[in-house]
Amino acid sequence: MKLATFSHGGRRKVGAITARGLVPIVDPTITDIGELLRRPLGAGDLETLFPSSAHALDPSAVTYLPPVVAPSKIVCVGLNYADHVKESALQQPDYPTLFLRAASSLIGHGTAIERPLCSDSLDYEGELAVIIGVGGRHIATSAALNHVFGYSVFNDASIREYQLRTPQWTIGKNFDGTGAFGPHVVTADELPPGARGLRLETRLNGQVVQSISTSEMLHDVASLISIISEAMTLEPGDVIVTGTPAGVGWARQPRLVMRDGDVCEVVIEGVGELSNPIKDEVEI
Ligand code: MG
Repeated sequence: MKLATFSHGGRRKVGAITARGLVPIVDPTITDIGELLRRPLGAGDLETLFPSSAHALDPSAVTYLPPVVAPSKIVCVGLNYADHVKESALQQPDYPTLFLRAASSLIGHGTAIERPLCSDSLDYEGELAVIIGVGGRHIATSAALNHVFGYSVFNDASIREYQLRTPQWTIGKNFDGTGAFGPHVVTADELPPGARGLRLETRLNGQVVQSISTSEMLHDVASLISIISEAMTLEPGDVIVTGTPAGVGWARQPRLVMRDGDVCEVVIEGVGELSNPIKDEVEI
């Protein structure tokens, strides 16, 4: 199934993307995929929440929101593709480079990524996002994929000047309106195990700037879940953003940055197409 969180008629809803259109969930108290995942769901329950007899909306007539609006954790992985490690001139230890993103930085498909007025260094990072369905601690690699609800697309847009001011990247990764996420979540059963072997491509104004297979990750989805859960209890709706490949704008000569009027798309085969225009922050 493909599930989206969206706003329509002034209300936030979850819907299933079907051949007929976007079918809203029958329970209006479930207003994002995070809330859906916190409910006890048995086999087959998901289908009954989106009855085939329900009225379907036009998917182009809604505003897409981050599929999980406020995850308890968004754990991002840095330097998880060898070609990106090389272009960044940073050292990649055996342990993954992990940092957190705040939910306040998230935006949905179609919403503008905001270029802050303080810096002209807004860069794209196309990535695969993993949405945790079943939480846990000390999850073995062999069991890790049983904890995945589904996958989505993420643009870990970064303010490079701020990211690289100190060894901690946090501030450059948490500007408002820079974590583009969506448009929907594809349930894990519709993809290869661990979402391996999928083509990930980032396009800036239609030009391909990143292209790789998700099989090239240094730490795959199962390993990341195991490593992260050694420290933190993963909870339903938590998101792991698995890292970006080579081709980022900051590593290019001359540097390529995103500016007002640009459009950035991240496309992952079988998962989805996330598209966001770039807009300057409005001065207040
Ligand atoms: Mg990243």
